[in-house]
Amino acid sequence: MLPNLNWANGFAKTWSPGEEGAQKRLKEFLAKKTADYDSARDRPDEDATSGLSAHLHFGEIGPRQIWAAAHALSQDSGVFPLNNGVQRFLTEIGWREFAYHLLYHFPNTPNQPLREKFNEFPWAADRTGEKLRAWQRGLTGYPIVDAGMRQLWHTGWMHNRVRMVVASFLVKHLRLSWTHGAAWFWDTLVDADLASNTLGWQWSAGCGADAAPYFRIFAPVTQGEKFDPKGEYVRRWVPELAKLPPKFIHKPWEAPIEMLAQAGVTLGENYPRPIVDHAKARAEALAAFKSLRVL
Ligand SMILES: Cc1cc2nc3c(=O)[nH]c(=O)nc-3n(C[C@H](O)[C@H](O)[C@H](O)COP(=O)(O)OP(=O)(O)OC[C@H]3O[C@@H](n4cnc5c(N)ncnc54)[C@H](O)[C@@H]3O)c2cc1C
Repeated sequence: MLPNLNWANGFAKTWSPGEEGAQKRLKEFLAKKTADYDSARDRPDEDATSGLSAHLHFGEIGPRQIWAAAHALSQDSGVFPLNNGVQRFLTEIGWREFAYHLLYHFPNTPNQPLREKFNEFPWAADRTGEKLRAWQRGLTGYPIVDAGMRQLWHTGWMHNRVRMVVASFLVKHLRLSWTHGAAWFWDTLVDADLASNTLGWQWSAGCGADAAPYFRIFAPVTQGEKFDPKGEYVRRWVPELAKLPPKFIHKPWEAPIEMLAQAGVTLGENYPRPIVDHAKARAEALAAFKSLRVL
């Protein structure tokens, strides 16, 4: 079902190695995207973030250079203090520093939860590996999750909001260990970074520093409708659903049969039905968290 494209084909759009490209990206980002960054950074259907993560990871640009350039720009243009977008962007750079701080002080966290209690978390059994494979290949039946996983496969990058959604889906809806997700990201992300990847996964699983509270279970349909309101992101990465209207593109199983037929969608044949029921999975995840007594 998933076209057998070469993973490396889409790399070039994500990252061309080199310091010159990194500086160019930073300049363009500061000049054109900071005004809206604060709100648009959560929209995977827009090209609203800096795309600097791989350059940062490979040391082609440093956080101090970014910090200095952002402040210089603000003073040049007389916008002082920094506008919200620049401030927010520098906060994200700060999260990266925090990730490194944690990895330095807790070097076992790529494999072990920072909160030890989570060693006892009742992960679900997936003996055949079927659920993990469906997640990896973007065949879960939840369009926003599938779009993210396919973007990752085809380009080596995934939007941050969608990283949070797919991570929450793996650990809370499928109740598979965050270490499986971290390992897949490690193998497939162009910006794979031990510190940031560990922080992101432990945050999503609720077992890290400043982690997402256990009851925060991203509802994939709501996330899709909120952050990809017209369904453009899903249309780009899940072409099977491209002809569905915005109202149903994040929940094709609710579309009337005639509409599905008109859009060329046959659930269970050319696009999967949801592999888990959201309400049931949510209730089971909450019960699992309660059993840990970490509340
Ligand atoms: C489960 C999960 C796994 C992740 N794995 C990685 C990873 O392996 N490598 C990686 O670089 N980022 C990772 N992130 C963080 C974030 O998704 C990416 O840094 C961001 O999407 C990169 O796109 P950008 O450069 O356009 O970001 P921008 O929004 O332009 O942010 C600027 C820079 O700030 C840093 N940054 C932004 N958000 C975060 C964050 N939440 N944590 C740490 N640093 C951040 C990055 O260096 C980024 O390049 C992960 C997030 C999650 C939820």
